[in-house]
Amino acid sequence: MRVAICGAGIAGLALANRLAANGITVVLLERAPGPRPQGYLIDFFGPGYDAIAQMGLLPAIERFGYRIDEASLVDDTGKCRARISYSRFAEAVDGKLISVLRPDLERVLRESLPTSVDLRFATTVTTIANESNGVRVTLDDGTELAADLLVGADGVHSAVRGHTFGADDRFVRHLGLHTAAFQYPDPRPGTDNRITLTDTVDRQIGHYALRDGRVAVFAVHRAPDPGLPADPRAKIVDTYASLAPEVIRHCPDDFYYDQVAQVIMPAWSRGRVVLIGDAAHAVSLLAGQGASLGIGGAFVLADRLSRLPIDAALTDYERLWRPVVLGRQRAGRAGARWFLPRSRWELVVRRQALRLADLPWLSRVAAARITGKPTTLITDLAGA
Ligand SMILES: Cc1cc2nc3c(=O)[nH]c(=O)nc-3n(C[C@H](O)[C@H](O)[C@H](O)COP(=O)(O)OP(=O)(O)OC[C@H]3O[C@@H](n4cnc5c(N)ncnc54)[C@H](O)[C@@H]3O)c2cc1C
Repeated sequence: MRVAICGAGIAGLALANRLAANGITVVLLERAPGPRPQGYLIDFFGPGYDAIAQMGLLPAIERFGYRIDEASLVDDTGKCRARISYSRFAEAVDGKLISVLRPDLERVLRESLPTSVDLRFATTVTTIANESNGVRVTLDDGTELAADLLVGADGVHSAVRGHTFGADDRFVRHLGLHTAAFQYPDPRPGTDNRITLTDTVDRQIGHYALRDGRVAVFAVHRAPDPGLPADPRAKIVDTYASLAPEVIRHCPDDFYYDQVAQVIMPAWSRGRVVLIGDAAHAVSLLAGQGASLGIGGAFVLADRLSRLPIDAALTDYERLWRPVVLGRQRAGRAGARWFLPRSRWELVVRRQALRLADLPWLSRVAAARITGKPTTLITDLAGA
């Protein structure tokens, strides 16, 4: 069997890894000219954590991991108003939590690819002929590629989804926010394993020190229009300069900026094209598990393809994986209101809720709301 995967992000790399380990021929196509260095810190827990453990990659990811003790929420005068305890959250997920930069997670997955994987950077798909027993794809260098299956792992604004299922506006559900992330060098000592977040209405900016003399920044603000600004840097400066001038003056020209959205689709495959990760079912940063679900879904699809004929494997992938994803998407949407308060009143209510959530018995309840219903699917498949 030959599988072409479009997108060498977290989901595409995980799938390539698993398929090649099972003797399947894999061509992995990535639009970027090389590994993408920009990124943010990911709280990695849930089904993707189980999948990474089954793949034997936990020790490698732990080497890149950060120990975060807490996130402190400070108001616009700099006063700490509430805390989110990471150790309480870790307890609630039985210690199965790693904080890791997205580029480092990708690096571990990329460096552990079997040598048989044909990874092509600076390459994308321009046309797709979806046929009954395979797929023919034209690449942007004009060459043609034939495969038994094409997998779209190319993120929220997936080109494979666009070619096969239709335009973004049919599947991408805007959640009323925009987000940005960047890093800058700062030689001052670190910030005690602490993330600092502003506790503010309609906009929030957070930063934390990385171990190599850089600071990572991420920001989220209310934006009813899904369309991105013509000049994202000017937008960021305008929105946050009064809140965090010291951080904002380092904002580079080129950085991550996107709408916050979920992808909701009635089916993830059509003929010999299937979607995984954010392309299929982005949960958004509000649900905090997109990377984990990208890896978990890749694990499930690879497992099915290794055991079943392709058409049956695609049906079974969706049967097993969709219920897990739907639960996480619901949790993400339900939390949207409290992720970024709209008024002073909501801010005060959130502070009280965070204080309560820090109580030992309540922290499990609060964590369960974020993590969703636990699933043993990955370990069950691995043991079958
Ligand atoms: C600020 C922020 C914080 C987050 N925090 C968390 C968190 O704490 N925990 C968590 O689990 N998740 C988190 N997420 C979500 C997580 O980052 C995503 O869900 C995850 O990266 C999705 O992986 P993916 O491989 O499906 O897609 P992507 O990471 O988007 O990768 C897609 C890949 O496809 C490539 N590509 C795109 N178009 C094409 C094309 N046409 N041809 C070829 N290649 C293409 C891209 O260059 C990229 O390499 C966060 C997201 C954001 C924005």
